[in-house]
Amino acid sequence: RRQVLALEQSRQQQEALLQELRATQGELQRSLNMRDEFMSMVAHELRTPLNTLFLETQMRTVNLERGNLAAFDADKLQKMVARDARQIRSMVRLIDDMLDVSRINSGKLSIRREAVDLTELVRRVADDLSPGALASNTTLHVQASGVIEGHWDAFRVEQIVVNLISNAVRYGAGQPVEISLSQTPNSAVIEVRDHGIGISSRDQERIFQAFERVVQHDRTGGLGLGLFITKQLVDAHGGAITLQSQPGSGSLFCVTLPLAGQ
Ligand code: ADP
Repeated sequence: RRQVLALEQSRQQQEALLQELRATQGELQRSLNMRDEFMSMVAHELRTPLNTLFLETQMRTVNLERGNLAAFDADKLQKMVARDARQIRSMVRLIDDMLDVSRINSGKLSIRREAVDLTELVRRVADDLSPGALASNTTLHVQASGVIEGHWDAFRVEQIVVNLISNAVRYGAGQPVEISLSQTPNSAVIEVRDHGIGISSRDQERIFQAFERVVQHDRTGGLGLGLFITKQLVDAHGGAITLQSQPGSGSLFCVTLPLAGQ
C-alpha cells in the first residue's frame, strides 16, 4: 500500500513537472513570436525611408547624367534636402529608441542631473515641434506660470516631453494640443492634453509596456516603444506618469518630477 502511495505521489510530481515544462515552452514560444514580429516591424520601419532615399538618389543620378539641372533649382533642392533630413532623423530616432530599450532592460540607463529651467525647455520643444504639428493641422499651446527649476537630466526630460507631444499630435485628430506646466511644493507637473482618438481603459493598462501598440491604426507607424521609454525615464527621475483618457474625446498625460535633489 505504501508502495502504491509512493508511486501515485511520484506520478503526480511528474505530471506537475510536465505542466510546468509546457507553460515554460509556451512562454518561450510567445517571446520568440514577439521577437520575430518585432524584427519584421523594425525592418519595415527602416525599409520604407531607406527605400525612398534610395529611389530619390537614383532619380537625382539620372537627372545629373542627363544634364537636367532644372531638377536642382534652389527651391527644389531645399525641399529635397529637408525631406531627406526628416527621413534620416526618423531612422536615427528609431535606432536610439531601440538602444534605450536595451539600456533599460540591462539596467544601464543612467540619469545625469543638472540645473534645468523646465519652462524654457518645454517652450523650446514646443517651438521645435510646431512646424510638424502645423503639417498635421494641429497647433501647440503652452501654458506656464513663471520659472520652474529643478535638477534633472535635461536630455531625458526633453525626450519625455517630445514623446508625449508627438503622440498628442499623432493621435490628436487635428485638434489643438495643450501643454501646461505647474508646480507643487515638491514636484514639477507637466500635462499634455489632446482631444483626439483617446485610449480605452483596457489599452490604458498596457501602453506603457514595451512593444505595445493599440490595435493596428498602422497608418502612423511606430514600434510602441515611446511610452515604455517615457515611463522608464520618469521612473528613473523618481517621478510618476498618469493617464486619463476616453475613446473619442482625447487623452491627458500627466508627469510629475520631484524638484531639485530628490
Ligand atoms: P507608438 O506611438 O510608436 O506606437 P508609443 O509607445 O508612443 O508608441 O504609444 C503606444 C500606443 O499608445 C500607440 O500605438 C497608440 O496606440 C497609443 N497612444 C499613445 N499616445 C496616445 C494618445 N495621445 N492618444 C491616443 N493613443 C495614444
